[in-house]
Amino acid sequence: MSISINNATFNATRRSVPVIAMGAIVLAALPSTLLAQGKSAAAPKPWHLSAPQLASECRAAVADMRAAVDAAVKRPLATQTFANTLLPIEEGNGKLATRATMLAGLLYLSPDKAVRDSSTTCNQIVSNYGVELQADPRIYAAAVKASKEKLSPIDKALALRYVEQGRHGGAALDSATRARTTAMLQRLNDLQRDFSLALSGDSTRITLADSEIAPLPDQIKGRIEPRGDQKTLRVDESTIGLFLRNQPSSDVRKRYLYAYERRGGEANITRLSQAVALRDSLAHLFGFPSWAGYQLDVKVAKTPQRATEFIKQIDAGLLTKARQELAELGPVAEQDHLGHPIANWDLSYYSEKLRKARYAVDANEVRKYFPVEHVISSVLDVYQQLFGIALTEVKTPDVWAPGVKEYTVRDATTHQLIGTAYLDLSPRPDKFQHFAQFPVDATWRHPDGTRELPSAAIVGNWPAPGGKEPSLLSHSDVLTFFHEFGHAVAQLTDRSPYLTLGAGGLRQDFVEAPSQMLENWMWEPAVLARVSKHYETGKPLPDSLIKRMLALKHFRDGFNGTGQAFYAGYDLALHSGTPAVDPLALWNKLSAEMQAVPEMEGNLGPAGFGHLMSGYDAGYYGYLWSKVYAQDLYTRFAKEGPMNPSTGRAYREIVVGPAATQEPDTALQRFLGRPLSYDAFFAEMGIGGAGSGGKPTP
Ligand SMILES: [Zn+2]
Repeated sequence: MSISINNATFNATRRSVPVIAMGAIVLAALPSTLLAQGKSAAAPKPWHLSAPQLASECRAAVADMRAAVDAAVKRPLATQTFANTLLPIEEGNGKLATRATMLAGLLYLSPDKAVRDSSTTCNQIVSNYGVELQADPRIYAAAVKASKEKLSPIDKALALRYVEQGRHGGAALDSATRARTTAMLQRLNDLQRDFSLALSGDSTRITLADSEIAPLPDQIKGRIEPRGDQKTLRVDESTIGLFLRNQPSSDVRKRYLYAYERRGGEANITRLSQAVALRDSLAHLFGFPSWAGYQLDVKVAKTPQRATEFIKQIDAGLLTKARQELAELGPVAEQDHLGHPIANWDLSYYSEKLRKARYAVDANEVRKYFPVEHVISSVLDVYQQLFGIALTEVKTPDVWAPGVKEYTVRDATTHQLIGTAYLDLSPRPDKFQHFAQFPVDATWRHPDGTRELPSAAIVGNWPAPGGKEPSLLSHSDVLTFFHEFGHAVAQLTDRSPYLTLGAGGLRQDFVEAPSQMLENWMWEPAVLARVSKHYETGKPLPDSLIKRMLALKHFRDGFNGTGQAFYAGYDLALHSGTPAVDPLALWNKLSAEMQAVPEMEGNLGPAGFGHLMSGYDAGYYGYLWSKVYAQDLYTRFAKEGPMNPSTGRAYREIVVGPAATQEPDTALQRFLGRPLSYDAFFAEMGIGGAGSGGKPTP
C-alpha cells in the first residue's frame, strides 16, 4: 500500500554549512491528480481548489479508499485471491495517491495561507490513514494468503510487499496492542509535522551593521531587508554558505552560525525527545530491540549493526584527512590574525581563502558561468539526450504560483506523452525552503492498461538577481539541480504497473542512488562546458578553470565526509539507544568523537535536523549507503561514455523504469552484468587499501 505519503525527495542541505549536499530526503507529499492518458477532459488541478474544497476533496478521497478496502475484504478469507482482493485494494491505493498527493503537498507550495492550512490538515488526515491502512489485519491476511498463490514475479513482489508492510505496520499484532501502536504512530506523525512546520516557519534573522554588510557579495546584499531602522538578513540554507564564506569578521560569522544552529528552537528538541521515546516503545511492541532495528528491517542494509559499522568505517577513514585539512587552514588563519583556534564558524571562510590561493578557483568567478536560464535549458538538454526524452515548455502553464514553469515530457523516439515536469525555483514567502523534488501526479496502470501519467516538480529557492548581475548559481547549486532532476526523471520514467512498487516504493537506502550517480555528470569536463555560459561573454567555462575545478573536487572531503558520517551515526545512535537519551548531549558527544571540529557551544543542532522528523529517522545513513550503488552503476557510463544515449536508454529501461518491482541488487546486476562491488565508492571517498581491506562492510 505504501500510499507513499511522506515522499517528496528533498535535498540534504540541512548541514549545508559548507558541505556539498549529498542527497535528498523523503518528506511529506504524495503523488496526485491527473486523468489517465486518453481519458476525458482533465479535472481542475488541485491548486485551483479553495481551502474548503480542498478539505472536502481530501476527505472524499480517503473515504473512497476506505470503501474500496471494505468492499475488497468483504468476501470470506477462504475465497479471497490476489485478483479479487489485493488488486482492487492496490487500485484504490493508486486512486487515493492520484487524488491526494498534491492536496497533501500544497502546504509547502501554495502562496495562499488558507490553502496551506487546509493542505496541512489533509496531510495529517492522509498520513494517519496511511498508518491505519498498514495496520489493517484484513489487508494483511489477504496479502499473506495471496502471497502463497502461483503469481507472476511482479504480482508476487506486490503481495510480499503488502505482507512486509502489514508486519511493519503492526497488522500481525493482537487488536489491543494494534490499537495502541496505531495511536502512537499517529501521535508520532503529529510530532513530526509540528517539528517540520516549526523549522519551515522559522524566520530567524540577524541584524547587521553597514560595515558588516559592505564586504559581502551582491547576491547576499540583495537579501538584506530593513526591520524598523535596522538591517537584517534571514538565517537559512539560502544564505549560510555565501555568508560564512565571505564574512571577514569571526565574531559576525559566529553570530550568524549561532542563530543558524538554534533554528527550530527548544520546542523542537522537546518534540524530538518525545518522538524518540515513542519510537522506542513502538519498536518493542513490534518485537524489535530498537527503532533502528525496526526501520532497517525493510531496507537494503537490514540491520543497524551493518549500517553503523559501515558509517564508522567511513568516519575512521576520513577523520585523519579532516584533521589534516584543519591543520592546513592554520597558517591561513594566522595570516589573518584570527587570534583563537579555528572554530566551526571559521571553517568556510578560511577554506575559501585556501581554495582561492591553492586552486585559483574563485567561487564568485565560477558563478558568472552559471546564469539560471542557461543552466535550466542546458541541464534539461543533457537529460533529453541521455534518457531519450523530449521536454517542451508550456506557453500558458497551469501552475500553483506565478513564475512556475511547466513542461510536457515525451519519449523522444515514439513521441508518446510520458508526463509533466514543473520547475518552481524562485523564492517566495512561506514556500518550502529546501531544494527538493515533489511528486505532483502519481503514476500507475489501470486494469484496462491505461496509465495515470506522472508529474514531478523541482522546488528550490535560487537567489534572486542581485545588483547588476542576473541570477547566478554556484557549481554546487547546479549539481543539486542536476541531482534533483534525476529524481524527477525516475518519477517520469516509472513503468511499474503498481503504485506500491513504483518510484515511491524504492528502498529508502537505495532511492538516492540514481540521482547520486547523475551527480558524476557535473564533474565531466564536456558536460560542464555544456551547462556553463558566462553571463557577459557568453563563453563556456574555459578548460583551465574546469581543470582547476576538478582538482578541487576532493578539497575538504575529510570535513564533508566526516560531517555526513556524523549525521548518519548520530541518527543511528539516537534510535538504537535507550529512550531516555538526551538528544543534545548525544549530539555534542558524537560530534566531538567523529568530527575534526566539534559543533559550536550552545547549539540546538538536532532542532534543525529535519531528516530526523520527516521520514529519515534511522535512515540518514542511506545517503552514504546508496552512494555505494551510485558509484558502482556509474562505472558503466565511465566506460561507455557519460553522454552515450544507448547506455542512458539501457539505464532508463533496466534500472529506473522497473522502479521497485525489482530489488536494488537485481537492478544493479542486470545493468552491470555482475554483482555489487564497493571499489568505486571507496575510491571516490578516498578510502582505500588498509581501511577497507578490500572487503568493505555493506
Ligand atoms: Zn536526492
